[in-house]
Amino acid sequence: MQATTLSTLPPPLPERADGDFIIEARGLGKTYGSQPALVDFSVQVPPGTIGLLGPNGAGKSTFIKCLLNLETPTTGTARVLGRDIRAANRASRERVGYSPEQDCHIAGMAGCEYVTYCGQLSGMPMRVARQRTHEILDLVGMGQERYRPVDTYSTGMRQRVKLAQALVHDPKVIFLDEPTNGLDPSGREHILKLIGSLWRDLGISVVMSSHLLRDVERVCDRVIIIGNGRLLEHDSIVALKNRHRRIVELAPASEVERFVTVLTSTGAKLTRLSNGKLRVESESDSIEWILQLMRAHGLPPAEIVANPDALHELFIQSIGTAHGSQP
Ligand code: ADP
Repeated sequence: MQATTLSTLPPPLPERADGDFIIEARGLGKTYGSQPALVDFSVQVPPGTIGLLGPNGAGKSTFIKCLLNLETPTTGTARVLGRDIRAANRASRERVGYSPEQDCHIAGMAGCEYVTYCGQLSGMPMRVARQRTHEILDLVGMGQERYRPVDTYSTGMRQRVKLAQALVHDPKVIFLDEPTNGLDPSGREHILKLIGSLWRDLGISVVMSSHLLRDVERVCDRVIIIGNGRLLEHDSIVALKNRHRRIVELAPASEVERFVTVLTSTGAKLTRLSNGKLRVESESDSIEWILQLMRAHGLPPAEIVANPDALHELFIQSIGTAHGSQP
């Protein structure tokens, strides 16, 4: 196998103002030996909270590492915040935070010392880094433990300190690789709440990799689904759900029996759910036919929710397709 060097890659992209996209990748690829981990990956991602979703081994970490210049792509180009990923200078590091999947602390160092040190590495003066460290450790919910060596921390505390070191220098975007790994339900809830607030309250974009759909669905407004190193889907979660709404849940305000009669007469498959709602399956991707039917029969208002499981079905379907396409 011929080794690929930087010189075989396209020339650096001209810098441009960030704003529209936090990530722009064009034909990005990475092969380890003969193992393709990322294949012809092209995507333009606007600011917000983005889930990078895929099963273990899908290529999520590889994508993040290529974007952070921690791995050299075999093919293609990309920009993060408008800057070519190969620029990799101090200015790039100042605007980006990264919480890797593995522990990244320095043995023997207390949590607050470690986070301060990370702030300094990102260009902050010592005094500012120290002050900011305590603010960020408060934000991630760390108390007096901050004065203990990180080696003595629980998994939950380690995830918090990893998040703190990614945030200490006020980045514009942070990359979190499986930030809920190893957490118990309450630890997971706390960290997800915090992640969800970063864009909403502080304007920090988040790219969060996860193999757990429920985590992505809980905090992200967009999702990139990745399987076998390939981009399978990229859209807002709302749009993805709307694209897959052959199944809807209907909660009539009244006259449930008349809804049942009218809907059944169209040939739609109807199931009564234990919560009183009706699950309707049809051949249509739109809910317009239900609205028309309600108007035609003078039915009372009903709350119509596009398939609440749509993302799950899409995820399973995508992963299945990706595996099916494997040689
Ligand atoms: P994910 O983050 O989705 O779990 P990864 O990006 O870690 O996936 O891995 C994608 C593929 O690349 C996997 O098949 C993995 O075994 C392989 N891979 C990742 N890193 C290396 C490496 N340093 N050397 C060889 N193969 C690797």
